[in-house]
Amino acid sequence: MITRKSRDEIKKMRHAGHIVALVHKKMHEVIEPGISTKELDSIALNIIKENKAIPTFLGYHGFPGCICASINEQVVHGIPSKDVILKEGDIIAVDVGATYGGMVGDSAWSYPVGKITPEREHLLKVTEESLMAGISKMKAGNILDDISGAIEDVAIRENMGIVRQYGGHGVGRAMHEDPFLFNYRVGDKTLIKSGMVIAIEPMLNLGCDDVKVLDDEWTVVTKDGKASAHFEHTVLATEDEPLLLTTLIE
Ligand code: MG
Ligand code: MG
Repeated sequence: MITRKSRDEIKKMRHAGHIVALVHKKMHEVIEPGISTKELDSIALNIIKENKAIPTFLGYHGFPGCICASINEQVVHGIPSKDVILKEGDIIAVDVGATYGGMVGDSAWSYPVGKITPEREHLLKVTEESLMAGISKMKAGNILDDISGAIEDVAIRENMGIVRQYGGHGVGRAMHEDPFLFNYRVGDKTLIKSGMVIAIEPMLNLGCDDVKVLDDEWTVVTKDGKASAHFEHTVLATEDEPLLLTTLIE
């Protein structure tokens, strides 16, 4: 069942989303060659705790981190580690969730580490663009396939692989609620109504669509070893323009 959030729930989600945005602001500052993904995780945990929120990912189905840190060919669900040190030319997707007042904010961003190749620059730019295209369709009266199709169109135009096995999701009291949102057209005519909140999160690849899960049972990587990027915002549908919940409250 797809819930429509109350005014009070939305207020709490907006606050949770602000905390998630604070984490990303910090990630933007500290991501550079030489830092480990474990250090990034500790920084994120501190920000979430300082803001009296709960790290949503920590312990979720046993996940050991408060961020997912996925480098290069890793798509999602990379486990933070002191042994994973960022290098010049890497790209890293940081996905983070915070729960405040029982409500979840969920957002991912992909960052360059130092100077990266033009090809990787392009992957980041296009994946962000596909997220924004999807978000623009998150309006009452549209259907879910409008969002999926907008993402797919950007990926196809730029000849990027689209990860098929993972996608966006409703979010609120739980991190993963109905509906599931594909990042390509599937013909889902579910009507978007005001008060619905969806985490929209395209994952695009420089190579093929196919992915697999590593032996750690978490880390998802591209089958061809080519780089992947991931961008995500938690978005509220209104009768008017979509509202991003995972941005800073200025
Ligand atoms: Mg996420
Ligand atoms: Mg998500």
